[in-house]
Amino acid sequence: MKTHVWVQVVIRIDEHYQDLLIGLLVLTGFTGFVQEEKFLQCTMPKQKWNTAFKIKFEALITKFKKEFPSLDLSYSHKLIHEENWNKKWESQTGIVEATPHIIIKPSWKKLPIRHAKKLVLHIDPKMSFGTGHHETTRLSLSLIERFLEQHMKILDFGTGTGVLGIACIKLGAQSVFAVDNDPWAIENTKENVKRNAVQKRMIVRLGSISCIPRRNFDLIIANIDFRTIIRFITTLASRTRKEGIIILSGILTNDMPVLLKLFAKNALIPIELVNENEWTSVALRRM
Ligand code: SAH
Repeated sequence: MKTHVWVQVVIRIDEHYQDLLIGLLVLTGFTGFVQEEKFLQCTMPKQKWNTAFKIKFEALITKFKKEFPSLDLSYSHKLIHEENWNKKWESQTGIVEATPHIIIKPSWKKLPIRHAKKLVLHIDPKMSFGTGHHETTRLSLSLIERFLEQHMKILDFGTGTGVLGIACIKLGAQSVFAVDNDPWAIENTKENVKRNAVQKRMIVRLGSISCIPRRNFDLIIANIDFRTIIRFITTLASRTRKEGIIILSGILTNDMPVLLKLFAKNALIPIELVNENEWTSVALRRM
């Protein structure tokens, strides 16, 4: 078994500000988050915790403090080993009722009898994003339930744990092409794909926008951040068939006006918006 070493940063921050900070930290390279009332634990592979990263991280924290001067925010960091990490996840990650019909279940939890008739996604998160604890994953799943059709060929851009792609296959999609530029996410997605026995219909690739095949997808899902959406929306639109659908998540509601202009430029018409707390997800039809 490979042993990975991680850096865990514990940030003392009130729970009301945690999602906002997670939205920014996902961009920097942290891959795992655990939220508690007064603390946010963020984790990343040790080799990513270099001088350049630390400068970026400190600048981000300083900016956040400036924006919210009354906030009591401090942090410390330590190294952890994979075994400890997994044990910690096991004690903290529970079953998530992601939508009224979809349950996300880690392998160390038993399925309560009341969920027996629901669609169960078997997801062990390890270091990747996509446990269903975050609003953006749940909002994506609710839009997938609404727009998924059986014949669809799907692209899951920024797959994380593989949760959204796996949900699509289990809801009956024909195929999923899942991409992530984080090697840990890809390793984790591959494990989850096997766990859910969907490997015949789900292809998993390490990479970014350039590894997406040119074929036209019926549905593209991307639960990524604002800046990545801005960067890649034109390419994602070009990979969607005419009348096809793009589901975008990871958007802070305040950022929507900027994006709506960009969607219009790319012939993408919003057909449904859903939100929870400060997060919005949108389904767009490509004209
Ligand atoms: N789809 C999952 C995970 C979302 S987190 C869910 O909905 O819960 C966003 C994921 O996008 C992360 O795993 C991150 O590694 C990946 N990502 C961010 N920028 C990317 C890029 N440019 N190319 C590919 N993947 C990217």
